[in-house]
Amino acid sequence: MKRKILIVEDTPAIALVQKHIALKVGYEVDVAETLAQTKILISQNNYFCAVVDFILPDAPNGEAVPCTINAEIPTIVMTGSIDKKTRDTVEKFPIIDYIIKENKQAYQYLEKQLKRLPRNESVKVLVVDDSISTRHYIVSLLLRHKYQVSEAEDGKQALEMLAKSPDISVIITDNEMPNMNGDELCSEIRRLYNNDEKAIIGISGADSSELSTLFLKNGANDYLHKPFNNEEFYCRLSQNVDMLQQIATIKRQANTDYLTDLPNRRYFFEQANTSLKALSLKKANGSLAMIDIDHFKSINDTYGHDAGDQVLKGLAICFKKYFEKYLVARLGGEEFAVYFADENTPEALKRLEGFRYFVENNSQEFSKEKIKLTISIGFSGGPVYQMDTLLKQADQKLYEAKEAGRNQVTS
Ligand code: GH3
Ligand code: MG
Ligand code: MG
Ligand code: MG
Repeated sequence: MKRKILIVEDTPAIALVQKHIALKVGYEVDVAETLAQTKILISQNNYFCAVVDFILPDAPNGEAVPCTINAEIPTIVMTGSIDKKTRDTVEKFPIIDYIIKENKQAYQYLEKQLKRLPRNESVKVLVVDDSISTRHYIVSLLLRHKYQVSEAEDGKQALEMLAKSPDISVIITDNEMPNMNGDELCSEIRRLYNNDEKAIIGISGADSSELSTLFLKNGANDYLHKPFNNEEFYCRLSQNVDMLQQIATIKRQANTDYLTDLPNRRYFFEQANTSLKALSLKKANGSLAMIDIDHFKSINDTYGHDAGDQVLKGLAICFKKYFEKYLVARLGGEEFAVYFADENTPEALKRLEGFRYFVENNSQEFSKEKIKLTISIGFSGGPVYQMDTLLKQADQKLYEAKEAGRNQVTS
């Protein structure tokens, strides 16, 4: 279901721009022109967030802001300009942000915030502080921006929580704590996890510039001095989350085949190699299947390259579903692979034969030209602990499958 946003704005042209932005980001949009309409809409709907104009005909002093805030709707305030009085009034409320309409970047900024809020729902933040009141304050700031939040009282507990919830990506930590200080926690996190997996923001009230240096030298990405202003807190936090997500995107792109969205050759061999090494210690087996489309060249020749691409994409979707539990990849061209970690050979072969049969009977669904195709599969069940050797064996079996007439599994 789409997230719903309430736009409160009395100037139709501005409301239209905001609505356009919200629709583009993917929200369902309601617009209210007055405080009265706002109240009615709130009583009838569940809003994910609201963008609220500070001055309305029936709310000249920002009265619409407490209206959405009291309804527990995360609120972004838009103001014509910001004088001290307006700023003080706005900052009294636990709003997400305020944006000055006159600012050139205002609408770009609004778009960024509207994108961030749904994203934050999947970002896990761990708050580490021995002071309950500070912890709860930071937690409340995070919840306001829809982050998922966990808490720890000291560095030791923080490490335990990280071990239990590996998907925590941001750690906000105090320095002086019993059992384990913030700087020690930083260096432990850097020892245990990749740099690009977790961002650390150090916070401390201690009045010394040495502390920020200590935090940064131990691997923190950022440092905030207490008491900090909320805007600074949010800016630094979202910059760090953006950074982690950009790295994740680059990593994903480097590991993914652009046409089919399957893992690519590089990622496949990296993962399979690591798995084989681990399996060799347990004397367990890794096995490999090489899968190649039969007479794919003639499909391209008959129906064109684009149709060929459609077939590859359709086949890739089925691969993902059929071998969900295993590692699959497009190795290149019309060649795919499945790696089975610690799976018995009869089960692997049963699955492969099932897939071959499925493709033979359903491949028309892959393309609008209803192209029929078959696949040949070569399988090597080991025990082999060198990926190169496993690959050579599976490749040889694939060759045999082709020689024996295609559309079959050979092991
Ligand atoms: P065989 O049954 O022996 O495997 O025959 P084949 O025609 O499938 O094998 P061959 O290796 O001769 O041809 C593979 C073809 O796959 C040639 C190449 O143009 C095509 N191909 C490789 N990558 C892509 C791609 O990304 N998209 C499309 N449409 N075709 C591709
Ligand atoms: Mg107005
Ligand atoms: Mg082929
Ligand atoms: Mg081939």
